[in-house]
Amino acid sequence: MATGECNCGAVAFEICADLSGVFVCHCPICRRATGSNGIAVVVVDNDAFRWIRGEEHIATWKKPHTDWQTWFCGLCGSPVPGANDESRMFVPAGLISDGGETLKVTHHVWVDSKACWDEIGDSGRQHAEAFEK
Ligand SMILES: [Zn+2]
Ligand SMILES: [Zn+2]
Repeated sequence: MATGECNCGAVAFEICADLSGVFVCHCPICRRATGSNGIAVVVVDNDAFRWIRGEEHIATWKKPHTDWQTWFCGLCGSPVPGANDESRMFVPAGLISDGGETLKVTHHVWVDSKACWDEIGDSGRQHAEAFEK
């Protein structure tokens, strides 16, 4: 079980599952979205995810001509959880306030397009492009 919220606290959620690893996407779109080296997320089944409050504050933006979409708090701008695919949500790892104590980075994706100043120093598996098993 884990809980998390955005910076202003308007949007909060809980996850009723053991969290698996953290995925870090280093692609240029995620970099612009966060202003950082990319975004770190945890992927959970829809069944394990529940909004505690603030769903009405969530805004979304889809990048034209791509399948990339972001969800964020309309009040404070923090990225918030969104649809990873039909059956799973992605949760920005930095939002998790409780229950993420054992999390580790397990995968880096789009490593071939990472920023030149972005040095990967953990033991997560590196994928040149999208995640491949
Ligand atoms: Zn907020
Ligand atoms: Zn990305």
